Amino acid sequence: MSQRKQVGLVWFRSDLRIVDNTALFEAATRCDQLIGLYVSTPMQWHEHHIAPIQVDLIRRRLPILRDQLASIGIPFVFKEVADFKQIPQAILDTVKDHGISHVFCNKQYEWNELQRDDNTGHQLAEQQVKFSAFDDCCVIAPGKVLTKKGEAFKVFTPFRKEWLNLFRGLAPSPLPMPDSLNYPFEKLEQSDISITYPPADSMRWPVEEETIRQRLVTFCYEKVEDYHQHRDIPSIDGTSCLSPYLALGMLSPRQCLAVLLAVSPMCMDEPEGGAFSWLNEIIWREFYRHLLVAYPSLCRGQPFQQWTQNVKWQPSSELLSAWQHGLTGYPIVDAAMRQLKQTGWMHNRLRMITASFLTKDLLIHWQAGEQWFMSQLVDGDFASNNGGWQWAASTGTDAQPYFRVFNPTTQGERFDPKGEFIRTWLYELKDVPDKYIHQPHLWPDSGKLNYPKPIVDHKQARLLAIASFKTAKDEY
Ligand code: FAD
Repeated sequence: MSQRKQVGLVWFRSDLRIVDNTALFEAATRCDQLIGLYVSTPMQWHEHHIAPIQVDLIRRRLPILRDQLASIGIPFVFKEVADFKQIPQAILDTVKDHGISHVFCNKQYEWNELQRDDNTGHQLAEQQVKFSAFDDCCVIAPGKVLTKKGEAFKVFTPFRKEWLNLFRGLAPSPLPMPDSLNYPFEKLEQSDISITYPPADSMRWPVEEETIRQRLVTFCYEKVEDYHQHRDIPSIDGTSCLSPYLALGMLSPRQCLAVLLAVSPMCMDEPEGGAFSWLNEIIWREFYRHLLVAYPSLCRGQPFQQWTQNVKWQPSSELLSAWQHGLTGYPIVDAAMRQLKQTGWMHNRLRMITASFLTKDLLIHWQAGEQWFMSQLVDGDFASNNGGWQWAASTGTDAQPYFRVFNPTTQGERFDPKGEFIRTWLYELKDVPDKYIHQPHLWPDSGKLNYPKPIVDHKQARLLAIASFKTAKDEY
């Protein structure tokens, strides 16, 4: 008597790749046949303000994933549901339709996503279907990097030290693509993939496997050595621009580190070098994910530093709009915000400057900025975005102290001395001499410029912000 074949379902979410995908790899070792699934939730993307340019990346990547899976004998099902809450039912339906005995996925650590998986797992268990969720999106899983007392770290530097200790004992070798399976394709029609969302001009971000890998390899071979010197200069193409792929799991951090270590095997012991500096950023990415798991209230809009709940923010739709549209009169802020709006991208240094400007100079709540970034960024990622905003707003763990406030003019002078970046995005300032490019309102000819005067006086705004934070702390 022939034994019934074990059919597994691999549920793809933020892990849109077939190489080094833990859930897919494990599923392929445990089942005879597999089906891949993606459930799209346009309403949820809309409600959570996910940027159309990021959705477009997903939309262009899914057919590639479908074809890659087909090449190893795995058919792909695409479903669209109106509401996030309908996802478990979509999984149950797929399980029923195809006689699935085991569902596999990689964990997402955000609160809603954890609840969704919990719910799905319970409903599957009632149907005697197994559900396995794997740690995959970090090199070292959340909950594994702990203090001597077994607690989560609240500060980055000791976290990094322990992370490196653990990492030294690991070889970050990515998992291979699974061996071919043989699902009888005649039993399942391949899904047509269409995602309803406004189209975006995202062709700057190719989504083919080989192109992404090439970007990683080129960066590690040609740019990583100078990364520490170039990474803060927005007019230099000195960072990897891999964050959109890491955010959607088209690339894994293990793949990144495998190439980095092949190029620079000693980098962990050379903290002054470019390669270490890049590794450091990957560790920041891990740190913010670990924090979400240790402190789930971060997913529910809470600041990490409780006392900062007392800060009296000054909501202003007018000032918020000026910031969003690059009309603050501070050129480095405005150039960055226009680049974001036009392209979905912003350099890390500029994210820090613009976030500081919103939360300190305008004293507008960091959540307004967090939400705006999510609605625009091609690499929008809850953990890194929340971490970055709370760092800049001085409300987070390991945040910059509230009394240290970025001066947008001197930041511009330091990181864009000749105003090259500013002139790229603020066409109206193209004729302003270098001497005035960071303070065009002081240029004797400024009357002919179609550019606003500074909407706040930085010196006064800084004092107000410091006083507001101090009062909040004293009253706590
Ligand atoms: P590289 O400099 O090449 O770094 C390599 C990788 O390390 C990045 O791709 C990214 O995955 C990770 N990384 C780098 N810097 C950081 C950091 N400070 N924190 C966490 N991870 C980091 N990053 C996102 O991926 N999504 C976001 O939504 C996001 N929002 C941010 C909001 C604010 C206010 C701030 C200050 C930072 C934010 N960052 C975010 C972090 C950082 O700005 C981007 O990861 C980085 O600019 C991406 O460029 P890159 O790929 O060239 O990075």
